[in-house]
Amino acid sequence: MFGVVQEQLRQTLEEIRAARLYKHERPLASPQAAHVFVDGAEVLNFCANDYLGLANHPAVVAAAHDALARWGFGMASVRFICGTQTPHTQLEERLSQFLGTEATILFSSCFDANAGLFEVLLDERDAVISDELNHASIIDGIRLCKAQRLRYRNRDVADLEAQLRRAANARRRLIVTDGVFSMHGYLAPLDAICDLADRYDAMVMVDDSHAVGMLGNSGAGTPELFGVQDRVDINTGTLGKALGGASGGYVSGRAEIVTLLRQRARPYLFSNSVAPAVVAGSLAALDLVIGNQADRGRLFRNAALFRRLMTEAGFELLSGAHPIVPVMFGDADLAGRIAEEMQRRHVYVTAFSFPVVPRGEARIRVQLSAGHSSDDVVSCVQAFVDARSTARRALAAGHDTHD
Ligand SMILES: *Cc1c(COP(=O)(O)O)cnc(C)c1O
Repeated sequence: MFGVVQEQLRQTLEEIRAARLYKHERPLASPQAAHVFVDGAEVLNFCANDYLGLANHPAVVAAAHDALARWGFGMASVRFICGTQTPHTQLEERLSQFLGTEATILFSSCFDANAGLFEVLLDERDAVISDELNHASIIDGIRLCKAQRLRYRNRDVADLEAQLRRAANARRRLIVTDGVFSMHGYLAPLDAICDLADRYDAMVMVDDSHAVGMLGNSGAGTPELFGVQDRVDINTGTLGKALGGASGGYVSGRAEIVTLLRQRARPYLFSNSVAPAVVAGSLAALDLVIGNQADRGRLFRNAALFRRLMTEAGFELLSGAHPIVPVMFGDADLAGRIAEEMQRRHVYVTAFSFPVVPRGEARIRVQLSAGHSSDDVVSCVQAFVDARSTARRALAAGHDTHD
């Protein structure tokens, strides 16, 4: 049997390569950080989600070491059988305090949190109203539930209202949005969304993976930034980005929702507990954020500096203040070439083009970190300027030979 399938799979892989969509994985020869080693050279890293530079922070690494010694390597169990240790419960309580919620449940990842959430809360009597640019894990989680599915245009509250009207007869209505959209760095308008939720008697769920630990006065994310912490019913998020960058995710919010998820969420019931060293390291990362020792100020100063210098150098950026900064090139070839030229200059960034973003909106997504120095930011901008000249010359020469 596999002989036939093998041929088909090889052909699919060939199609992926021909469409220039084949994803290569470049091994890092160092811990995750602002400076990493790739292909034997030190490279400036502007494409990790390590927003606060905690992925290799000494306090986080030490906490994980200690937990390894005290709690062992793995749990070899799900939470409800014999997979809960004190650190798991501590991390859940700490997250609730931090986010200002009633309760929190850990998952192996935010992907799992989103995959498990919807089918527990919603069935065919209900409606889920989802932003069109929501994360893949939200899309998959919604597919797993039987609720009526309604999509609204990205951050478009008028369209959201139209969809809410269509869901008027549903038993439950749940509005679902990313707090920050990862290909833009744009924020969901949570205040307006919560107003509509009140008016149309809907619940609100926010996946704050690209905001938790960073945005808001105390770093509690977009609900804090918009002053709607007590109006958001469900928060999901990851421990795999700003909060240490290891792995794990959570659902945090109304007590009854969290308690029911412990009883019913399939990725929680049928998948292993987060390893104790990861839990302890994440707890240490969260403590650094809560104690204001993680340098959020530097993160946003770096983002502002990068945005200012790039604008002065004539690059087109999507507006905002988030440390996700898309540098727009339109043309996929140009964006790809510039990313390659950047890598040749030892600056690691990634180009995104169709189908990840719409045709004609190719971009290089730069992600700033508190781990970057201002010199790192200046070097990145200089590399962009140089790479642009080289790529333009190469493309011009290429076009000449074709004409
Ligand atoms: C990164 C991300 C996830 C996935 O988080 P993991 O913990 O890595 O599974 C989910 N949702 C959003 C919005 C994300 O950005």
